[in-house]
Order: sequence, then C-alpha cells, then structure tokens
Amino acid sequence: MARIVGGIGSSHAPSIGAAWDKGPQREDRWAPVFDGYLPAKHWVEAQQPDLLVIFYNDHMNRFFFDAYPTIALGVGEVHKQADEGWGKRALPDLRGDPDFAWHLARSLVEQEFDPTICQEMAVDHGILSVLPLFGDAAMTLPVVPIAINVIQHPLPTARRLFRLGAAVRRAIESYPQDKRVLVMGTGGLSHQLHGERYGFVNPDWDNRFMDLLEQEPETLAALPHQDWMERGGTEGVEMIIWLAMRAALGAQVRRVHRNYVAPMTTGLGLLALESLSHAVGEVR
Ligand code: FE
Repeated sequence: MARIVGGIGSSHAPSIGAAWDKGPQREDRWAPVFDGYLPAKHWVEAQQPDLLVIFYNDHMNRFFFDAYPTIALGVGEVHKQADEGWGKRALPDLRGDPDFAWHLARSLVEQEFDPTICQEMAVDHGILSVLPLFGDAAMTLPVVPIAINVIQHPLPTARRLFRLGAAVRRAIESYPQDKRVLVMGTGGLSHQLHGERYGFVNPDWDNRFMDLLEQEPETLAALPHQDWMERGGTEGVEMIIWLAMRAALGAQVRRVHRNYVAPMTTGLGLLALESLSHAVGEVR
C-alpha cells in the first residue's frame, strides 16, 4: 500500500528560479531563502520518497483563458518544462507516473472530484522554481502534478481544496503497490502584482497562516477569497493551495521545519510537516 511520508508547503516565484540558476554568484539577499531550504531538503532525502504529488498553480503557461480547468491532473510519462517567455532553464524534464496518476484520477472521480485529466502537462515555476532546491535526487523522482485554478474567477474555495487533499490521501492509501509519497503544495505567500497595492506583503499574515495551517487548518478552510486577498494581496489567494497538502496529511501533524523571508515583492515561506495520522479519512 502506498502511504504519505510527509508534506511540504513552499512559496513559488519566478525570481527564486532565476536567483538559484546564478549558482555561486547568487546575491547575498537570497542566502536566507536558500539556506532555509537545507533542513527541509535533508529531511526529504531521509524520507526516501518514491513519488511526489504536487499541488500548484499554472500561470497561463499550460492553460489559457479560453478553457481554464479548476483542477487538472497530469497523467503523462513526462512533464516538460513550460517556456514562460524568457527561454527554458537548464533543468531536466520531470518524470511522470502514469499508473499511479490514473489510479488517482479514477479514485478522485469516484470520490466526486472531477479533474481535467491531461496527457500532456508542461509545468512552470509553480513547480520548477522550488523543486531544484530539494536537490538533484528530487528532480529525478516521478511527479504527479495537480494544477489548481487560482487565476481565473470563479476560483475553487479553500474548503474545496481542503477536501481535495483528503480525497488525495484516500486515493494514495488505496494504491495497492508500496510507495512512499511526499505531498507538496506551492503558492504565495502574500503578494500583489498590480493596482494600488502593488508590492503589498504582509509578514504577520504569512506567519499566522503557517501557524494555522499546522494547528487549525479548518479555520483557514472556512475563509472566503475576499479575506485571503485583503490579508495577503490579490495574488496571495494562491496560498489556499497549501490547504490541499495539509489535508492530505490527516488531522495530526508534527512540524519538522519552517522558514520565512520577505525579501522583495513576495513573502517566501517554507513548511515541512510529518503526518501523525495513520487512519484514512480523518479530515472531512
Ligand atoms: Fe503563483
């Protein structure tokens, strides 16, 4: 049987990838960000996952406004890097796991979630800005990407994503082969990229969010989008993606590592959680 070995919540941003690619020439202001990933990287390596399930959002690099899926699941053998307009980075394509992904698709539909099932799923900085920070080994693991619409309204509610995470847990635990699955959720944290509040960052909310995600995720699941946007900026609403990861871990978690830096236009958070819940369906 497959089981979840832990969860990672992480911000994503194109700037993380651009700074990371500078290698030893990186600017000093990025050191607190990248150094903050090292304990999480070592923990992930120690968990020896076989597979990554990653909740993230696409930024109009795979999906466009002519047809934008609320929830999309990648079932292909390979997930190529989307070209975001400034050329591709020197990264390998990600491997998929079609057998597991199709199991996930069937299970989610049976549980009355209906993802758009994608044979091709080019992935953007929603995954690739942060996955390299977990090491070369993480970049070679099979990935099942689950893209969430946090761009084109109407958006799924935070509670919908919370329930999606619980459904993904049930799907993972009903997979007959032994697999150690690490679940990730990426997005945010607080940021706003247009209008009068351009550059808005709210470290108090970002840290409160990480407290609540760990201890009282139901409280976050009850928040309407308006609250997320007022507290964390319009684009900060993508923080709701972390709720899917959190719900997949079950009711009880233990914090392994946490980091927060607000260097520029986005609050950058990282949270590594161990699941202490071993029964299926503890989160509703
Ligand atoms: Fe984003």
